Amino acid sequence: MDKDQYSSALFNETVNEFAKFPGIGKRTAARLVLHLLKQERPIIEHFGNTIINLAQNIKHCKCCHNISDTDTCTICSDRSRDHRLICVVENIKDVIAIENTQQYKGVYHVLGGIISPMEGIGPADLSIESLEQRVNSDQVYELILALSPTMEGDTTNFYLYKKLGKYQIKLSTLARGVSFGDELEYADEITLGRSILNRQPYDGQNL
Ligand SMILES: [Zn+2]
Repeated sequence: MDKDQYSSALFNETVNEFAKFPGIGKRTAARLVLHLLKQERPIIEHFGNTIINLAQNIKHCKCCHNISDTDTCTICSDRSRDHRLICVVENIKDVIAIENTQQYKGVYHVLGGIISPMEGIGPADLSIESLEQRVNSDQVYELILALSPTMEGDTTNFYLYKKLGKYQIKLSTLARGVSFGDELEYADEITLGRSILNRQPYDGQNL
């Protein structure tokens, strides 16, 4: 789309920022910015300040690597949860998806990706070392490997099995209600909740 389409460079610049969001094209971006401009100035400023505040202050939990306002996230600080049961996920979106099922009362470990030779992502790029430290020191009895049921997810499961199999812990994977190739975040909450409850022991084999 032509850069000079709009009569304001300021408007154009803001539209370009909104258009960076996934699934938002230029046209939708323009509609959102026009909507913003209809608001009172303090509301627009609050919107901008919220994002600046987010950028300046958001942290990652030092324990599970989930997003947090403090060094330790609200999930890791929750004493009513089972800290010996860890659900290993690829990213923060998966924590949100699993929390939405309201079926899981353990804690998490966010890997920050999955092993993907095609994209040049190896084990050293993921938070596997800190997972091993937790397994080693937190009296963990079970790891639920809740990775996407893709080739990369299977590769990562197998790597974790090889790496952590020496510890006295149970390894399990989600029951395959989630069909091959689906991403966790798109699985509906009931299916995802059920696949956590009906998780299967993992022995290094694909299910
Ligand atoms: Zn945490």
